[in-house]
Amino acid sequence: MGPVELRNWIAVTLGTAAEQINVGPRSVGVLQQILAATCEPNNEVIFARRSFEAYPIFVTLTGAVPLSPYEGHDLAAVRDAFTERTRVGIVCSPNNPTGATDDNESLSTSIASVPSYILVVIDEDYVEYVDEVDHVNGITLFRSYPNVCLLRKFSKAHGLAALRVGYAVAHPNLANALRKVALPAGCAWTRIRHAAQSSG
Ligand SMILES: *Cc1c(COP(=O)(O)O)cnc(C)c1O
Repeated sequence: MGPVELRNWIAVTLGTAAEQINVGPRSVGVLQQILAATCEPNNEVIFARRSFEAYPIFVTLTGAVPLSPYEGHDLAAVRDAFTERTRVGIVCSPNNPTGATDDNESLSTSIASVPSYILVVIDEDYVEYVDEVDHVNGITLFRSYPNVCLLRKFSKAHGLAALRVGYAVAHPNLANALRKVALPAGCAWTRIRHAAQSSG
């Protein structure tokens, strides 16, 4: 059911193992898998407000609790908001809709200071548009921390929103969990490939 060819291509492009790539039905679909795999009712998910409009919808659906609103990513405030019920922190950088970016060193320091059972999801939807050299480098942080996962997609910079393909870059435990909660045959890419093959 996995789009193996696409997964392998992404892995080669990013320089990761193929097992670290989870392709899904858009990145919001992959985020839903991440929250399903990590959260139970009464757990908390921390994100900036305002940030991507799907986060509060998902968090309510998964029974986790959004914390108090603030503008942009005040990383110290995010860190202080973590409690023992927190399972996930989402950092959208550059942030949608404010466009605010975060620097790699500050985020790295913040990640180092949170407990390792908290998953830090870095949503890199607009990373292709950034040219600040000190901007968050998701792949570097992923390689440095076992509790970091990246969310990427083809919808924006590649102009392929209708294809509905996104993916997570995840370490083995999470990658396995994501496969378990994946929507069966949910990836449009797989269906397109099958359709292309069966029609020759
Ligand atoms: C558009 C957007 C998404 C959703 O991307 P899809 O691949 O279309 O699901 C996720 N995160 C951010 C920050 C976005 O702007």
